[in-house]
Amino acid sequence: MIGQRTVKTAVRAAGVGLHTGARVNLTLRPAPAETGIVIRRIDLPGQADFIVAPERVTDTRLCSALEGNGAKVATVEHLMSALAGLGVDNVFIDIDGPEVPILDGSAAPWVYLLQTAGIETLDAPKRFIRVLKTVRIEEGSGDGFKWAQFAPHEGCTLSFSIDFDHPVFRQSAKEMHIDLSRQSYVTEVSRARTFGFMNEVEYLRSHGLALGGTLDNAIVMDEFRVLNSDGLRYADEFVKHKVLDAVGDLYLTGHPILGAFSAYKSGHGLNNRLLRALTEDASAWEWATFDSAAKTPQALRNLYPQAV
Ligand SMILES: [Zn+2]
Repeated sequence: MIGQRTVKTAVRAAGVGLHTGARVNLTLRPAPAETGIVIRRIDLPGQADFIVAPERVTDTRLCSALEGNGAKVATVEHLMSALAGLGVDNVFIDIDGPEVPILDGSAAPWVYLLQTAGIETLDAPKRFIRVLKTVRIEEGSGDGFKWAQFAPHEGCTLSFSIDFDHPVFRQSAKEMHIDLSRQSYVTEVSRARTFGFMNEVEYLRSHGLALGGTLDNAIVMDEFRVLNSDGLRYADEFVKHKVLDAVGDLYLTGHPILGAFSAYKSGHGLNNRLLRALTEDASAWEWATFDSAAKTPQALRNLYPQAV
């Protein structure tokens, strides 16, 4: 059986939010099967909480922000990406501020935290969303044209293309394809950091954004080069980070998607529109579970690293 997962023990992280600059504490706690991913603002009266879901997304300008029952939490995507990568279906996320800490700008610290907590497999089958037909969303035109789509596939693959007119991007791969049953999310994707341009920082700050952004939690470029003294972690770190974001954005159903995702210049907003288009069309998907090892397709047996 491919079982649902949670964390074995509670673990804590502390850090600043990328946009608010506010220091926040976050605790991940074990949750029973069929709980889902529950975010609770423990600093608010009544400790408002909600289960993550595609329709909870209220803001996608620079991050994915979720809102429910009067509680808002921004920049959830890197934590969601790590939860997806390690196959965690059920967890309580307690947070005492409005934004998930940015940590190093990648999902690697969250992966480490989850591995430190340990992953427990529960006695309930993991519920996958199986894509039954191609669903595609297009936006914009000319240079602003972008698209994202799901197509049927009995596995989890992502293909992403970016196109930035900038000297650094001409030397970095513009495309990435990953098959998560053959390649490791942890080693191939999780360490890719978020990135931004120096000339955008002033504008963002005047709008109260990127207040916590530094060279310690983002790749920052001027007009010509990367300003971080240590350079890049992967030669294709930019497109890898877009894949990392998509993995997180597409996990807001709380369930892994059996299908082939592909996208050109997509971002949080378009990823969310695609996810809603898929889940709101009853003829586009079905639930899938794998109750016994014998019935589990070979391609899915290596989808998640062994529980640690
Ligand atoms: Zn990101």
